[in-house]
Amino acid sequence: MSSSRPGLLASIGLSVVLCCPSAAPEPPHAAPPPAAEPDRLYAGRFEADPRLRAILDAVPQARARAFQAVNERLALPYQDKGAILLRFRDSLDLSQRILVRGPGETFTTGADPTAGSARIVVTGMVEFLLADPGSLETELTHELTHAVLRERMGARYEGLPLWVREGLALWTAGQGPARVRYFLGRTEFLERPEGMLSNLADQNGRANYPEAFLAFDYLEALRGEAGVRQFVATLLSGKPWGGSLSEVSGQNWEAFQAGLRAHAPRAFARLADPGLPAYRALVALRTGLDTPEGAAAMLEAARRFAELQADSCHSRSARMWEGRALLRLERRAEARNCFERVAAAGGPFCDFEDDAIAEVGRLAVAEQDHEAALRTFQRIVDEHPDSRHLGEALYRCGLCLDRLGRRAEARPLLLKALASFPKAALAAEARAALGR
Ligand SMILES: [Zn+2]
Repeated sequence: MSSSRPGLLASIGLSVVLCCPSAAPEPPHAAPPPAAEPDRLYAGRFEADPRLRAILDAVPQARARAFQAVNERLALPYQDKGAILLRFRDSLDLSQRILVRGPGETFTTGADPTAGSARIVVTGMVEFLLADPGSLETELTHELTHAVLRERMGARYEGLPLWVREGLALWTAGQGPARVRYFLGRTEFLERPEGMLSNLADQNGRANYPEAFLAFDYLEALRGEAGVRQFVATLLSGKPWGGSLSEVSGQNWEAFQAGLRAHAPRAFARLADPGLPAYRALVALRTGLDTPEGAAAMLEAARRFAELQADSCHSRSARMWEGRALLRLERRAEARNCFERVAAAGGPFCDFEDDAIAEVGRLAVAEQDHEAALRTFQRIVDEHPDSRHLGEALYRCGLCLDRLGRRAEARPLLLKALASFPKAALAAEARAALGR
């Protein structure tokens, strides 16, 4: 356990049963946080963590810059008088039994339950910020776009389709291009990027956020940045979103959607990382990974990628494939080096960060380095509580504590792991440890 977070394992052990993280996550932007002390930025299990204190210290300046970005990008004069509240909270709420956010959800914006619907509260999940501290300002710009528009439009804002709310927030925060670039490298879209386009009107989750951004990218291609601002101004004047869109784009809804589908391939070509074709070729080798020859081919491709595409946004993902190939070839020290580099916080967004941390932890377990394994799996609990490896991480933390002779700490943790993930592969080992 990291010395900066002395209370964590104790708090896991205290009184709670963790649910499986996939159990009933909240819909995006739904429930606001429970009432905390009225004017406290954060109260939670990371209070003493210096990494989080550094992030929280940066909040006032990031907030000011985020408001400025919203004002400039949307030409929305907005005076920050403090009516929009910022809060931070733990995503893995150990006292409430459950993960309190949906998968991948980093911030929420909603009415403040302690102050009536007039006040808006933006809530950031601290684990996500710990995993990616550099994202604070753009995330705040995104959420303050929601908050400012919500304040200006009142209840009408809730009636806007998801693609309008999220697309505008991504467009304003400048997150769209990187989001699309990253999605182009996701395994499920590598061969079929048009899979990102479903149907704007049916959007119901963040899997579709690239499409929401692309709708505004298309509007910008048609009418320039001024066109997006005009759309917002028309919305604020009270006109319904459909009428605003056709007025600004000059197209009816069907024509706009058809135009978006035609625009998307051009946007993909414009926004794709230069390393995407090489990354696509690398991932195609994964089908051979279970043979030594296939693993050697992937290793060679991954190393070539690292050499020729060092600045690619897919470089961390490529490093993960390199690590997997090395692991298959039983070159464990080199594999661990790869996984550690992927696991380091920061850098281009990467799907595999928690996978890499788990691999580092498993290698430590194999070497019976229980201190290192505990420290590593603790990171999944702390920074990736919605990871599919959470169950394994909880078991491993308990089993490592047991091996280290810290039975009193291990016991409640193993009981929680068994209650939350009873069918896990490590359950028998946990029961054996408890029975000793
Ligand atoms: Zn959003």
